[in-house]
Amino acid sequence: MIKYSLKCSDGHIFESWFASADAYETLKVAGHVSCLVCGDKNVSKAIMAPNVSTARDKSSALVKSQLPSKTDVEAQDMAKALSQMRETVEKNATYVGGNFAKQARSMHLGDAPEKPIWGEANLKEAKALIDDGVPVAPLPFIPTRKAN
Ligand SMILES: [Zn+2]
Repeated sequence: MIKYSLKCSDGHIFESWFASADAYETLKVAGHVSCLVCGDKNVSKAIMAPNVSTARDKSSALVKSQLPSKTDVEAQDMAKALSQMRETVEKNATYVGGNFAKQARSMHLGDAPEKPIWGEANLKEAKALIDDGVPVAPLPFIPTRKAN
């Protein structure tokens, strides 16, 4: 059994016992819950102080759910930073395409002159380079191929 404080549309507050929360909902929907004072069937659970604070929590959660607009701004900043980084790389480094891993290793071993390069390497190649201590860094963008 569960006891609810109920309130009718006239503002009468009364208490009533129900078998369960579901039973209350079922009876209310069927129109079997009415005000003990005036018989009004438009009753609802009287709002208690804890429910009010729950409602406040929910409204702050809504504010949080509006945050994506801020994330969009951050994403724009990120995109700007990425495009600047990309410009810097493309301006200062030589694109070596799929030969990146080979070239980077040659430079690391002293077989080729050191110069900034960028290109593509598969995961296996990249991991091998890092394992061998070759200073490489992943680029956070997909490079556009261009003629070398
Ligand atoms: Zn009433």
